[in-house]
Amino acid sequence: MSTSHDTNFVHAARGGLAHTPGIDLSTTYRIDQLEVGAQSLHEQAHGGQPVETPVYARLYNPTVRKFEEALASAEGAEDAVAYASGMAAITALFMDASTRGKQIIAIRPLYGGTDHLLSCGLLNMEVRYVNVGELAEAITPETALIFVETPANPTLKLVDIRAVVEAANGVPVAVDNTFATPVLQNPIALGAQYVVHSATKFIGGHGDALGGVVATSTARAASLRQIRIATGAVMHPIGGYMLHRGLQTLPLRVRAAQKNARELASLLEQHPSIHKVYYPGHKNAPIPEGQMRGPGCVLAMEVRGGYRAAAHIMANVNLITPAVSLGSVDTLIQHPAGLTHQIVDEQAKQSSGITPSLLRLSVGIESIEDLWRDLKQAIERAHHIRAPEQQDTAPLP
Ligand SMILES: *Cc1c(COP(=O)(O)O)cnc(C)c1O
Repeated sequence: MSTSHDTNFVHAARGGLAHTPGIDLSTTYRIDQLEVGAQSLHEQAHGGQPVETPVYARLYNPTVRKFEEALASAEGAEDAVAYASGMAAITALFMDASTRGKQIIAIRPLYGGTDHLLSCGLLNMEVRYVNVGELAEAITPETALIFVETPANPTLKLVDIRAVVEAANGVPVAVDNTFATPVLQNPIALGAQYVVHSATKFIGGHGDALGGVVATSTARAASLRQIRIATGAVMHPIGGYMLHRGLQTLPLRVRAAQKNARELASLLEQHPSIHKVYYPGHKNAPIPEGQMRGPGCVLAMEVRGGYRAAAHIMANVNLITPAVSLGSVDTLIQHPAGLTHQIVDEQAKQSSGITPSLLRLSVGIESIEDLWRDLKQAIERAHHIRAPEQQDTAPLP
């Protein structure tokens, strides 16, 4: 029976006798017939699925597999491969690219960890940063992957996925879909070859499970699975169980938080202490035609008063948690330049708008009245500290 996108989130890969999938914690599996075990090992070493016995938990785990099937269904992909964290998934994607060519092209801004991995030399690949307009010309026969994030962390900058795919001219395109979630955006339907998630964020949704996942075609998934076996960056089965459960309520959580985020974006816009609000679809950030089904649950703001005011707002919230990460049912606030994007090159920070006065807010599902009351008092307390004009140019300590 073909069912709707929302129904799939609730039911995908949950078959079996029990109402909920079990958690299989075994690290190794019985091999009653050597030939069958050897065949299973052979299949998996080539990126395939086990035959009768998983053999060993670094090769396959049935609980994690269920999460992968459900995520692939949510993204409209043939297959998915889960990893220990979002960064482990992204590392696998880049390692896989390195077998096809020497260059990766990326569009900034990116999550600080991704930017660092690309820039620090660890990959031993050439990395070029371009904007969409420069992409087609930057491609060489060595270009193995084009990597984008939209909405991007932390400024919510939007990249037109269809335009990237067109300019890519056949080079595989990977989209980090962590901010939009599969509820609001499905990059594969827009022509991308890979979708990657930090499942730690919205998919888990409760701040208690680390994980990453790449959704792609069956053939591309096979080589990503081989890399996972080789590097051992496996997702723990308890994580797999929790992230699979997280998918069931993802559409509800995203819509509830998005309603709050929309409201906060417009309230913040009108507040005299807020210089600028970054939110998809807001002001100068039109959503590319047909790309997203909603603006999402994360926003960023430039506060008047520079670094000191931003730091004070973060220190003055009560209900809202001052912490990195995002996508949880509770609201989090953090300072990208000082925290999540500290590691990013100074010049790249500047050109991407990651300034000392930028705060990022991951909006949760609390009551909007409580959220606004808390944020407003934090902003107003911060602005009693010193006259805003004196601090606009204050640098990071
Ligand atoms: C957090 C994050 C990552 C990294 O994921 P981890 O699970 O922390 O390794 C990658 N991309 C984006 C957009 C993120 O927000």
